[in-house]
Formats: sequence, C-alpha cells, structure tokens
Amino acid sequence: MINFIKKLFSNEGKAKDPVCGMMTNINSAKYKSNYRGRLFYFCSAACRQQFEEKPGEFVG
Ligand SMILES: [Zn+2]
Repeated sequence: MINFIKKLFSNEGKAKDPVCGMMTNINSAKYKSNYRGRLFYFCSAACRQQFEEKPGEFVG
C-alpha cells in the first residue's frame, strides 16, 4: 500500500519539457525559463533556446 502511494506521487519533482515532451527532474534541472510567472524546465539548452524564442508556440 505504501509503495502504491509512493508510485502515485512519483511524478512529484518532475516537470515536462514543453518543447520535446521529456520529463525533467526539477531538483537537478539546469535549464529553466520563467514565462508569464510560470517556471518551465528543459532537458537541454537547445530546448530552452527554442522555447525562449517562441514561448507562445509551446504554452497554450
Ligand atoms: Zn527537451
């Protein structure tokens, strides 16, 4: 039961890279960008760069 609960919350601490859709770890994320008061996390500098050029394309 405890393992089940842990599994349910295993997505905590992770965020989706809006550019490529990969899950990134918030705690170890190197690539972040703030857009309209929201913090986005990226798997790589290339993804972050793409996002910062046209954030409106990745955020609905
Ligand atoms: Zn990415």
